[in-house]
Amino acid sequence: MTDSFEKSIPSPVSRFVQVVCNECGNRMTVFDSAKTTVRCSVCGAVVAKPTGGKSIIYAKKEKVLE
Ligand SMILES: [Zn+2]
Repeated sequence: MTDSFEKSIPSPVSRFVQVVCNECGNRMTVFDSAKTTVRCSVCGAVVAKPTGGKSIIYAKKEKVLE
């Protein structure tokens, strides 16, 4: 058997971002390229919306997690 799974898969530039909700200050982690709308688990405010690629993040970005 030949191992054809070399490192040819392009690594996505997606990351997890720690954000703070604009409405209630809840801190949470969202995926940079989420495919669904992300809402704050506390107040329900929209935190991130999907686009074709990266999400639009509406909350305040605190830091990017590697
Ligand atoms: Zn909130």
